[in-house]
Amino acid sequence: MSRVRKFHQKFIAANGRETQVTCFTISGTAPGPVLTIIAGQHGMEHSGPNLLPEFIEELSRREFAGTVHVCPCANPLALEMDYEFYPEHEDISKIKDYYYSIFRHNYCPWKLGRDDGETLYNMNRLWNDPDAPGIAGQIAQWLWKEICAEANIIIDMHCLQAEKPLIFNSFQKNNAIARYTGIEAVVMCNPNPPRYGAGNLTWQGSRGRNQYSICIEFSRQHGLKESEYELGKQSVRNVMIGANMMEGEVILDRPVWEVPYDSKGTRFRASHTGHIRYFFNLYDEVKKGDRVFQVRDIETLDVLEEGIAENDGILCAVSHLPVIKPGVMPCSVPKANLLAKSGVLLEKLPKDFFNQ
Ligand SMILES: [Zn+2]
Repeated sequence: MSRVRKFHQKFIAANGRETQVTCFTISGTAPGPVLTIIAGQHGMEHSGPNLLPEFIEELSRREFAGTVHVCPCANPLALEMDYEFYPEHEDISKIKDYYYSIFRHNYCPWKLGRDDGETLYNMNRLWNDPDAPGIAGQIAQWLWKEICAEANIIIDMHCLQAEKPLIFNSFQKNNAIARYTGIEAVVMCNPNPPRYGAGNLTWQGSRGRNQYSICIEFSRQHGLKESEYELGKQSVRNVMIGANMMEGEVILDRPVWEVPYDSKGTRFRASHTGHIRYFFNLYDEVKKGDRVFQVRDIETLDVLEEGIAENDGILCAVSHLPVIKPGVMPCSVPKANLLAKSGVLLEKLPKDFFNQ
């Protein structure tokens, strides 16, 4: 008998467009925790949607304890458009005039972008809310009821624009899970956000006593970064091993750091125009006094300024700009806490972790 149950629900948008959301439940070979993985809430974020079908096949052949629910493509209409959300009440044809550029990252053809205010078209603001509006709200309600409300661990897969993936996490308790992923930076978010921010899946999914939830952000939007798919699958395997759902050991190649909310540390601000050269990679450990970058004059090639770390920390927030200008923040070195060392066996969670 197949251990995979595939099921779906149909939804109709306000403009009449019909869509279907598909979920998979993979039953383990022994009792254990419930893990839910959701991806594709935001339509320009394609890593989770692409790696999860392969991961479902892998799990269907592997022994593991517990149950895994997966929804690879939570927001099919937005994914098809390669846009963050599906604006069902707006003129959808405007997407034809849209092109993405990192230099106008928040530009929105409907003037509903992140710089313009709060839109309830954004599925990841509508979780665990019986009054959530629109097709995005209906999908979120259905997924919450079917695969999220009873989950012990929720992994929500997104993408941002950076050199490497990171994790967003609102609550300290989730770091017990996040440390296994091997994703190098766990960036802590406001634990008490206003209602809009509190509508995100991982905030809602962390509220129960035996519920833990993290958001993995892969590092490319509006494109494919297939080189990260294996990292994504391994991060979930590691969580399952750490949570005693899967046999194996977790030994990480790179350390995992927690960047506290409102973390203190060096915030650089450039004072010249020129080419910038960084001497560390994103999330590398930096020591107080280390030279982090230098800026070179484009005409004379002289070094105009250097960034020296004022504290121990990790390299974060590296700018995408090739030419730095006065006032621009090229990077920062926040003080960070080590969540998991590299090269050592990580201790697993206690067997009764989810039954406390
Ligand atoms: Zn997202």
